[in-house]
Amino acid sequence: MDGQDQPPVEPRTPLCPLCGVRPVEAAATVVWVRGRVWTREVFRRPLLGCVPCLQSALLAEAAKSLFLGWFSLSALALNPIFILFNLSRAIFLRPRPDVVAFHLARRREASGAAPVPCGGSADLSAAGRP
Ligand SMILES: [Zn+2]
Repeated sequence: MDGQDQPPVEPRTPLCPLCGVRPVEAAATVVWVRGRVWTREVFRRPLLGCVPCLQSALLAEAAKSLFLGWFSLSALALNPIFILFNLSRAIFLRPRPDVVAFHLARRREASGAAPVPCGGSADLSAAGRP
């Protein structure tokens, strides 16, 4: 053993926060609307997780919206769009490591952790100055 047999340390992908078993491999945004006779509220929840968990979250919200999303005039118009959006996202969701890395970096920045250095970074605040 000369110490060179050890594999390089790679940054680990966090586990899916929904199941805790598989790694985070995709991002999806669940959208839904709830009508309240004269008003309506639109909700939006971005999620990171494994593909099966995100698909089940999207399908669960689409199923809930089939029953709960119709109770105002504007919700009548928006609900079918959001149901189709969630269904199509569930069907076509694929692992996207680049998108996951982007969202994880944004969360690290938002949490105040040290920013991850990237190659060729420039001071963008000075770019637009004359
Ligand atoms: Zn999962």
